[in-house]
Amino acid sequence: MTPITTCELAEARRLDALYKLHLLDTPPSEAFDRITRMAANLFQLPIAAVSLTDADRQWFKSRVGVEHTSIPRLRAPCGQVADDSGLLVIPDLMADDYYRDSPLAASGIRYYAGAPLITADGHCLGAMCVLGTTPRQTTPQEISALCDLAGMVMAQIELQHALGRVDAVSGLPNRHQFSEDFDDLQRDAAGGEQGLAVLVNLATPEQLAHAARAMQSSYLDELVTDAARWLRETLGPGRRIYHVATAQFMLLSPPGATLKSWLPLVEARMQAALAIARGRHVVTPSAGVVPFEIGRADSLAVLRQAQSAAHDAIDSPTHVAVYSQVEDALYQRRFRLLNDFVAALESGDQLRLVYQPRVDVASGRVVGAEALLRWTHPQLGAIGPAEFIPIIERSGLAQATTARVLEMALRQQRAWRADGILLQMSVNVSAANLAEPGFADAVSAALARHQLPADCLELEITESAIMAQPLKAHATLAQIAALGVGLAIDDFGTGYSSLAYLQTMPADVVKIDQSFIRQLDGDARQQALVTAMITLSQDLGHRVVAEGVETEAALDFLRRAGCEEAQGYLFSAPLEAAACAGRAAGMSGAGARPH
Ligand code: C2E
Ligand code: MG
Ligand code: MG
Repeated sequence: MTPITTCELAEARRLDALYKLHLLDTPPSEAFDRITRMAANLFQLPIAAVSLTDADRQWFKSRVGVEHTSIPRLRAPCGQVADDSGLLVIPDLMADDYYRDSPLAASGIRYYAGAPLITADGHCLGAMCVLGTTPRQTTPQEISALCDLAGMVMAQIELQHALGRVDAVSGLPNRHQFSEDFDDLQRDAAGGEQGLAVLVNLATPEQLAHAARAMQSSYLDELVTDAARWLRETLGPGRRIYHVATAQFMLLSPPGATLKSWLPLVEARMQAALAIARGRHVVTPSAGVVPFEIGRADSLAVLRQAQSAAHDAIDSPTHVAVYSQVEDALYQRRFRLLNDFVAALESGDQLRLVYQPRVDVASGRVVGAEALLRWTHPQLGAIGPAEFIPIIERSGLAQATTARVLEMALRQQRAWRADGILLQMSVNVSAANLAEPGFADAVSAALARHQLPADCLELEITESAIMAQPLKAHATLAQIAALGVGLAIDDFGTGYSSLAYLQTMPADVVKIDQSFIRQLDGDARQQALVTAMITLSQDLGHRVVAEGVETEAALDFLRRAGCEEAQGYLFSAPLEAAACAGRAAGMSGAGARPH
């Protein structure tokens, strides 16, 4: 590799300064055109331009009397202005040895005057230039006017640039500036050194939403300006604080700081911030800390990681959290699953149901089947409902999911009945369904669509779903019961409800959660608990189903305790529809090997 020359390095830096301004290939702007017109008028010349020197072209941000938006840099006088960072006047191109053969001269141009456009850092971006078709002399006044106009162009460029980089409320550099400064830090790094980024989050998204609803916008502005002032005072002069989102500030650790030395400081400052917040605003500040390797980190990734840590910090005792890759990966996976589930609902082949037989304990006959949802993600493969159902239930997708499951289950039920297989079909529904107006009507309509009697369907509702909104749940369940559809309380024993309360629910069946049944073997206390659950449920008029029956011993115990039905790997794991029908037709109850 040939070493880079000083000249090449200067040019690379000059180009970098130009690119950072994000000016190239932007649309024309009146602010620049005004100056260009003034230049043409002052010189009484037909052509004037604000010409920026890119790697191999002169690009015109503003132009008068030129058709092209750019020309090649080679042998363009503006290119020379950029190279020399100095004024260039060519009274007659045809009399100039170098420019005589230039494309510009070939196009009929004879006169050129260009003043350099120099940034505050001393980089020359190009030229403010005027051109004429006849040779001409230049007065000292004209030269000084051209230099003034170049100064005006630079003032305009720097003003525009600053406006896009400073937050109007806090007066602090914004997210774009953070990215840029962070990238600069990377560029000059020797490598291997660790840096720390801290994101200070003033309030939770909910608090911001409440404030926006309840208070005037000046409340948030005041919160932000107060916080910005506090941060500035706390950190002292010379430290840059970035205002990266409505209520978020970002800062970088001083050189040499380590997590060990710096974290206690951040935590102490956070305690002070919390004390102020308690007294002045209804907000909960938190901070996320991200260690990164200087020279190898990406500004946007660090920002996102810091935001993620600051969010986790809300639940930590110190309100400060260090970014954890594991937590983040989990969050990203959850986010991805939720996003992708929308496509799964629309697709024909990602979602399917499997059916787990439910067995009458006394006769050993299969009397029902629970429909359980399965998702094959196109890239991630099989995802278990224990992972995706809780994510979906926290989103707005629960209703659409139940609708889809109900539709698939009833279609299967119709097919089984046509084949003479009579099983009650159990479908799990979510808490959101219980609060959904018209849910009972939708169930009734689905049954009618498939020409099925109401009693061939049972809906399973978990105890905690009922307890989430007891009044609404009660009303919906009463409507469903009135249709003649069966109701089961699922995962019984895991919530915080009382049996006395559940007794007021119009449920036919109580399904004792598998966590109680799987621990039955030889555990006298567990056995006493399950016996009590069975007797109480029956006394209150419910039929009892034991979930998660895996052993003969558990089944024997349940039989003696008078439990009516059982479900579990002892009989069968969840099966594809055809296998479940086969099991229902041929299975004689306990003893069949799990799938
Ligand atoms: P659940 O309704 O309590 O379903 C019983 C779960 O226990 C099923 O897990 C089943 O495969 C598993 N299981 C059955 N027998 C045994 C056993 O003997 N031992 C053990 N260890 N496990 C057994 P699955 O299919 O992974 O479903 C998990 C949960 O996801 C379900 O618990 C239910 O709450 C939810 N879910 C599944 N499908 C749907 C659906 O279509 N809609 C809704 N809202 N939730 C669903
Ligand atoms: Mg269930
Ligand atoms: Mg259950």
